[in-house]
Amino acid sequence: MCGIVGYIGGDQAAPVLLSGLEKLEYRGYDSAGVAVYDGTSLKVVKAKGRLKVLSDLIDGGKKTPGTIGIGHTRWATHGAPSDINSHPQVSDSGRFAVVHNGIIENYMALKEMLVRKGKTFVSETDTEVVAQLLEYYYQGDILDAMIRVLQKVEGSYALGVISQDNPDELVAVRKDSPLIVGLGEGENYIASDVPAILNKTRDIYRLNDREIVVLRRDSVKIYNMDKELVSKEVCHIDWDVSAAEKGGYEHFMAKEIMEQPKVLRDTISPRLKDGKIVLDSISLTAEDLKSFSKICIVACGSAYHVGVVAKYVFEKVMRIPVDVDLASEFRYRDPMVDKSTLVLVISQSGETADTLAALREAKRRGARTLSIVNVVGSSIANESDDVIYTWAGPEIAVATTKAYSAQLAVVYLLAIYMGQLNGKLDSQQVASYIAALEKLPEQVEEVLQDKENVQYLASLFFNARDVFFIGRNLDYAMSLEGSLKLKEISYIHSDAYAAGELKHGTISLIENGTLVIALATQNPLFDKMMSNVKEVKARGAIVLGMAVQGNTQIENFADHVIYIPETCDIMLPSLAVIPLQLFSYYVSSMKGCDIDKPRNLAKSVTVE
Ligand code: GLU
Repeated sequence: MCGIVGYIGGDQAAPVLLSGLEKLEYRGYDSAGVAVYDGTSLKVVKAKGRLKVLSDLIDGGKKTPGTIGIGHTRWATHGAPSDINSHPQVSDSGRFAVVHNGIIENYMALKEMLVRKGKTFVSETDTEVVAQLLEYYYQGDILDAMIRVLQKVEGSYALGVISQDNPDELVAVRKDSPLIVGLGEGENYIASDVPAILNKTRDIYRLNDREIVVLRRDSVKIYNMDKELVSKEVCHIDWDVSAAEKGGYEHFMAKEIMEQPKVLRDTISPRLKDGKIVLDSISLTAEDLKSFSKICIVACGSAYHVGVVAKYVFEKVMRIPVDVDLASEFRYRDPMVDKSTLVLVISQSGETADTLAALREAKRRGARTLSIVNVVGSSIANESDDVIYTWAGPEIAVATTKAYSAQLAVVYLLAIYMGQLNGKLDSQQVASYIAALEKLPEQVEEVLQDKENVQYLASLFFNARDVFFIGRNLDYAMSLEGSLKLKEISYIHSDAYAAGELKHGTISLIENGTLVIALATQNPLFDKMMSNVKEVKARGAIVLGMAVQGNTQIENFADHVIYIPETCDIMLPSLAVIPLQLFSYYVSSMKGCDIDKPRNLAKSVTVE
């Protein structure tokens, strides 16, 4: 969600900003802009629409010369997407330019105060108050002005600022929104995420909340709100540059789907040692586990669907009650969590605003917190008591695939680890789960080899208007994810239903030719599922079924079938999700949709 890039150095800033913003396009945006200091004043160019519109306006950067600048892709929260509401936002005199990701919650009161002081506002954004406040408080020291502004604003922000009065300094700060600092030779950067600067530097600083960074060409200084210097360790990123490139695939999503065997290997193998699961990074003891009366899982979107899988898996393996909550709801229902609750939060970016807020609420209530996160050093990783990283590498496509799979793998690791620890699993069960885990990457490879079959099925249904996904138990959890994937990238309306629930209402929507995707991979529930398949067939549905290899009975019920290899029940979701991802991908591709950047969606959702 929204991208920020800033540059100060010896090169022309604008081309660096444009190329960095391009690498952040995956985050979702509706307009883009840059501000560059050209030696006499700040030049601001911004436009609604794709980055290409901006790039054409400034001729790839040639029309905005200068070696210090800030750039932004906006995902509107306050004020419609428009040229004027795009960032950078500038102060009345044009001397301060600001890019912002997040929401200034008290902007109305601040705006009224500034209007009373004679400032004129031109946009509907909350961000403009930051630019105006900076100018209002500026008395020759930009750091002082920034501190005063931060004392006034409430909400979430990553801010990048340049000013005509300090043309050798770029100032930035964050609170609850992501921002990193890139360290180069004779040049330095700020960015919302690593891919923006990966081809320039691999050495970065991760900022904590309200740490203010002052970048010059040859120095980077970080201050706290008391204006004291803060020292920080350099974090070296060892992602391959190619990790953030398409590598010959037409879309990032296709590449990321195909990367899943590797991602599973990377996530699982380091945690398996001598027939045991080793989670060095977490400090949970058997004693701790005994003290928990329940586990509460909190997440958003696909990570929430991982949570639904985890509920079934944890309850089965550990025999402990599990709640799953949407992070955006959790905080507002006075959640019953305390020190006898383990709160597990799941987030790819580690910056998901709703999830971060839920984590803080859980901590405030005394819960023990554990997170599953993909981005090392992100806010959620930093703030939870323990973290287990998924080793999925950068995920660029907005619709998650490989991060989802890596999160599932961590759920299995955790379930077996905790089942081992609380004595609910004997060594034989542990051994058989571990054997299944080890086989998972090659089984995913096997499912991926069947992609032409899924492509063919997609060609039959890409014109569908409505699609229903049904399943029971873990297949219900998979239905949720399959349905979301299809909606997200193909814009086909779809619904996921617990198969037994359909007849309590939704079955009235089934008519001649409606596609129903029936997931029947859980053998113990197969017969019950087939009754549900018959119910929809009787109302004219066309059924695409999914079952485990060898269970050819499904062919007596479904019109089309996808088979997945056999594994233990709890790990079937890892195999079942692959054809669902491929199906959505191919349908979307056949419909000509913008697969990697679906309309209105953002990758790392950093506003609540
Ligand atoms: N709240 C700001 C706006 O609507 C920033 C949005 C963003 O994060 O892109 O302009």
